[in-house]
This record gives sequence, structure tokens and C-alpha cells, in this order.
Amino acid sequence: MTNLVGNAVKFTDHGEVVVRVTRISEQDENVVLRFSIRDSGIGIPVDKRTLLFSKFSQLDPSSTRRYGGTGLGLAISKQLAELMGGQIGVESVEGQGSEFWFTVRMGLQSGNALGARGRALTPTNLEGMRVLVVDDNATSREILCKQLATWGMRTLNTKNGIAALTALATAQEQADPRYCDGV
Ligand code: ADP
Repeated sequence: MTNLVGNAVKFTDHGEVVVRVTRISEQDENVVLRFSIRDSGIGIPVDKRTLLFSKFSQLDPSSTRRYGGTGLGLAISKQLAELMGGQIGVESVEGQGSEFWFTVRMGLQSGNALGARGRALTPTNLEGMRVLVVDDNATSREILCKQLATWGMRTLNTKNGIAALTALATAQEQADPRYCDGV
């Protein structure tokens, strides 16, 4: 993670770096997780992708001078992912960005690790309440909406002020501006 996030930040001048973790499969005692690190940086040409995970490989000597590095990080990341029962890979569009991903198999704790503590932290007084999320960044909207939904809130997600005002007016017309119970 440190190496892949470090690279994503290093090779991205504008835009964003997004880290996602998804569950691929789960059995009684272990789970396979997929970690994805997506950036909007310089990208990687198709013909250079096979070199990436070899030791001491850096794609472009001029970018090495600019960005530094050793060309070892991805080779080590590949070894670690494979030792943990997983794989590593990359998708990229040159000039638009890259997504590095890896999977690992991990042991599950016995019992529900979050258990009562997780439930106690849920703010129940927010349940059913409507919430309008406005942001021009789709990733920020997604993160906020997912978090709010875990609290049982009803989210509406809009990307600019005009769409937000329209959504507010519609909610008012529907007499459902803030709370599902009409408070
Ligand atoms: P280092 O970053 O130390 O040079 P790595 O093995 O981590 O070594 O990366 C090897 C090369 O792969 C980098 O020098 C760079 O050319 C390319 N690379 C890695 N990550 C990215 C990325 N997110 N975007 C563009 N190029 C990348």
C-alpha cells in the first residue's frame, strides 16, 4: 500500500488518488480482499506495462530524474502480494492515469470484531433523515453518500449548485424536505 500510494502521489500532478478496498470472496476462516489505488497521473504506455514488476525497472529515465525512486518498489509489492496468496496488476491510459490493484487472502477474526461496539457508535437519530450532498468531485460524493447510508440516511447526490437547488425545490414540493417522518 505504501509503495503504490506513494507512486500514485508521485506521478500525479492534478486530480486525485483514490484507494478502494473491496471483498472478492469470503469463506469460514478467511477473506480475499482487493485493494485498488487509482490515480489521474501520467499513466503508463501499453508496451511498458510488462516491465513494471521487474527489479530495477523504471519506465522513463527522464521521469526518474524528475521523480526519483529505485525501480524496486513494484517488484517487492508483487512478491508480497503473491506471498499473501494474491496477485497484482495494473490498468492504465497514458496521459490519463493508472489503477494498480492487488488481492490478498487474510484470516478472519473469530466472532464479529465490530460487534456491539460498532452498533453503539451508529447515530440512530439520523436514521431516515434526508441529506443532500453537493460536490463537483464524484469520488468525494461517493465516499460521503456511502458513509451517510451506513447511518441509515437517505442521500441525494448532486454535482453542482444548480442541481442542488433543483433537488431542494423538488423535496419541498414533495413535502419531504428533511425527515422521513415529516418532522
Ligand atoms: P520507483 O517508483 O522507486 O522507481 P517502482 O517499482 O515503484 O519504483 O516503480 C517503477 C516505475 O513504474 C516507476 O519508476 C514509474 O516509471 C512507473 N510507475 C509506477 N507507478 C506509477 C504510476 N502510478 N503512474 C505512472 N508510472 C508509474
